[in-house]
Amino acid sequence: MTQRIRVFATCDIGDALNILRQKGYDLEVYPQPEAPPKALIVEKVKSGVQGLITTLRDSIDAEVFAAGKGTLRVVSQLAVGFDNINRADANKYKIPFTNTADVLTEATAEFAFFLMGALARKLWPAEHLTRDNQWGYWHPFLPFLGDEVTGKTVAVIGTGRIGLAMIKKCAGFDMDILCYDPAYENREYIQAIQETMDLRFERGISRDKTMIRYTTLDDCLKSADFISLHVPLQRPGEGSNPTYHLINESTLRSMKPTAMLINTSRGPVVDETALARALRENWIAGAALDVYENEPLPADSPLRDPGLADRCRLLPHFASAGRITRLSSDPEKGMAGRCVQGLIDVIEGNYGGDITKMPYVVNKEAFAK
Ligand code: NAD
Repeated sequence: MTQRIRVFATCDIGDALNILRQKGYDLEVYPQPEAPPKALIVEKVKSGVQGLITTLRDSIDAEVFAAGKGTLRVVSQLAVGFDNINRADANKYKIPFTNTADVLTEATAEFAFFLMGALARKLWPAEHLTRDNQWGYWHPFLPFLGDEVTGKTVAVIGTGRIGLAMIKKCAGFDMDILCYDPAYENREYIQAIQETMDLRFERGISRDKTMIRYTTLDDCLKSADFISLHVPLQRPGEGSNPTYHLINESTLRSMKPTAMLINTSRGPVVDETALARALRENWIAGAALDVYENEPLPADSPLRDPGLADRCRLLPHFASAGRITRLSSDPEKGMAGRCVQGLIDVIEGNYGGDITKMPYVVNKEAFAK
């Protein structure tokens, strides 16, 4: 009798796991909603599982890969970002890991867009006014006004999958768009967006002409009304354009005092201490954050200062949290489906067993002949 394939999932990722059960895999799922302790992951890997399903909460490094030497065949991550997985360590042990790119692109971009709108139009303080029974009268400008998004300038930092989707949504709101990406400029896409902007103006759909262009980070920071981050987290020494604390005291000081920052990328891309100060001292007008340097956001975070609540939106790493995006078993639609398919591809040797041809494997370089 052949041995059943053993898989440990550090988290329940929903019905997509039934695909593995139906295939006869021996699947163990960590039952708690919190992340398991690292020691438990190491123990499970040491016990000989061939597949490991992870989330961004799990630190997957040399200790885990060493524990799986000779047995662990794939780490399958439910996220597009993989800053919790040490790529160099995975390559050293020649263990492929997969991610769930693309299926969360539109959900994450629309969330960034909605955060921008909620912040700019002051939806949160306005609802509080109503709920707290402080809405005493209709008045042209009291107790406060918001700012329109339509017609303003947005800077999209990082023009990969999610950045380009954000651009598409902002173009629909007649915004001028500045783009910055030191490693990947999709000029064809930007040209196509400019053509649709021009057509909307010519046909009377948009009242004003709008524009999109690539520019420098400095120009983005100095000129934009909204700055939206769509970069991966790369710490110093990882990759050629580290993004750790890309937004810091100096970059915050170069923004307009009316500027607003939106971060749906990764928390450590923003220096939170500097940001809290920037908000307190009005260097910038607002920030909307979905991700934090430490998650969940610590109780003593300066971002929780009630004095900042009117201009600082705080969301719980929620940008991809749409039902279909998170849970669909269809690998073309859901993170769960794509995560499971990525694992199956490696375990069952799809694509002729050639890891470099498997679409969801990230570290293909370790397997190039
Ligand atoms: P992607 O790889 O397609 O795009 C990232 C882009 O950032 C690339 O074009 C890259 O060249 C660019 N980049 C790298 N360093 C840069 C720098 N220093 N300055 C400017 N641009 C730089 O990735 P994606 O699918 O668009 O996802 C982007 C990130 O969003 C992920 O890595 C993840 O961390 C984050 N994310 C968060 C959520 C959430 O729930 N909040 C959901 C999905 C993705």
